[in-house]
Amino acid sequence: MKLFFYRNKLGSWLQEQQEHQQLAFIPTMGALHEGHLSLIAEAKQQGCLALASIFVNPRQFNNPEDLRRYPRTLDRDIRLLEQAACDAVFIPEADQVYDPHSQIPPVALGFLAERFEGSFRPGHFQGVTDVLWSLFHTIRPRDVFFGEKDFQQCMVVKKLIDTHFPDIHMHIIPTRREADGLAMSSRNSRLSEAGRINAPAIYRALQEICHQKHKTPLPELLRQARSYLLQHQIETEYLELAVPETLDTLEQWPETPAVLLFAGYLEGVRLIDNLRC
Ligand code: AMP
Repeated sequence: MKLFFYRNKLGSWLQEQQEHQQLAFIPTMGALHEGHLSLIAEAKQQGCLALASIFVNPRQFNNPEDLRRYPRTLDRDIRLLEQAACDAVFIPEADQVYDPHSQIPPVALGFLAERFEGSFRPGHFQGVTDVLWSLFHTIRPRDVFFGEKDFQQCMVVKKLIDTHFPDIHMHIIPTRREADGLAMSSRNSRLSEAGRINAPAIYRALQEICHQKHKTPLPELLRQARSYLLQHQIETEYLELAVPETLDTLEQWPETPAVLLFAGYLEGVRLIDNLRC
């Protein structure tokens, strides 16, 4: 597996490769787990040359403490990528991503970026589109792979691609979960043993709401779920049912498919999850 730390070295290598194979790009912030590796596996499965990136993007953290405490496990990440048959990895410092001489235009995300994650993490999605704008321009991939675990991020990236990078083909890969249902996340490693036992309550709560679809009024189910989560030390930031494409909040059960979106805190660790229902 090739390792690149500089944009120009990566650029030269990409030029050599592009004639031979279709390039898939899988951006990550490291602290890799099976969820990330499933994106690499899917890219390889589709016969692509797989390029991952590892960059803890400061612009998408609105909380400096969250950024400071974000797990960093570079040696292990490189080993895991190698085992996953990833072809190359870009591991830039911020100066290789953000060029002080070229401005990244603000991407008009509108409503999509203002609610849920956007309202609790101001500037988060602008940070996400900044880093992707820069990386997409450097790498010019044909395919990109993202996880449905970050449901709203997928919608935002889709908008970025539809508007500014229409030649890129986006793939959205299902959420990988632990055996007990907890969505795999780099942040899970910050939980204590007791926290780790409580955390799967999130998925159970989402599943229970979906099981009760049309049987119990939605607001009642959301209330019960919040209280169930609190019994497991999980403080809900938001728990809502929304229209998948627009993220408009639903007050009642719709006839069409919807998505439950959750964010909350357990032991000071911010966890998110979602479930289509
Ligand atoms: P991150 O390192 O958190 O920025 O995630 C990098 C990519 O991996 C994003 O596209 C995430 O949505 C995806 N990802 C993170 N966790 C999971 C998971 N449990 N299952 C599938 N994809 C995931």
